[in-house]
Amino acid sequence: MIVSGPGGVGKGTIVDALLRRDSTLLLSRSWTTREQRPGEHDEAYVFTSREAFERHRQNDGFLEWTEFLGNYYGTPVPEFSSDRDIVLEIEVDGAQQVKVRHPESVLLFILPPSRDEQRRRLIGRGDPDHKVVERLRKAEEEEPVGLALADYTFVNDDLDETVDEMLGLINRLRAESGR
Ligand code: 5GP
Repeated sequence: MIVSGPGGVGKGTIVDALLRRDSTLLLSRSWTTREQRPGEHDEAYVFTSREAFERHRQNDGFLEWTEFLGNYYGTPVPEFSSDRDIVLEIEVDGAQQVKVRHPESVLLFILPPSRDEQRRRLIGRGDPDHKVVERLRKAEEEEPVGLALADYTFVNDDLDETVDEMLGLINRLRAESGR
């Protein structure tokens, strides 16, 4: 299951809530060359150097990877097979790669209720102003691509409602596929 959407839509918060409510979901931990933000959890990513990332990439260690605003991000190939549904929280370029490699994956694309709200959420994360501007510009590019690619779209107006709707969908899809 791919959860994607432009920066500031609340993907991280949504995924945290999904995992709390459905303990069978398994979150994939990405690698990144971005610096850890102040206060950001050590487990948020595997924080790594460009050299180590590139080595892993050359060894076919990534299911998908991309460069996003100057840093590399990638999903490692899962090390073990599992019956559990794996959740990827990634941007749209990576989502596109996963859809090509795994057409059975389901892409849930999340939109912000408004640009103003999105800006407020990005500022609240503690990024400097120029990064907020850069991320908003990137978000405008990502939205049409994500919408074209998405299997399902959600507007994250109210967190609890969005999570309820997503869990409802996941359970419906499981029932349909006999999982
Ligand atoms: P951030 O720097 O805000 O943590 O993440 C920037 C963007 O990269 C977000 O849209 C996030 O979902 C995305 N991202 C995080 N991990 C991965 C990954 O493994 N692959 C891809 N393609 N995008 C990722």
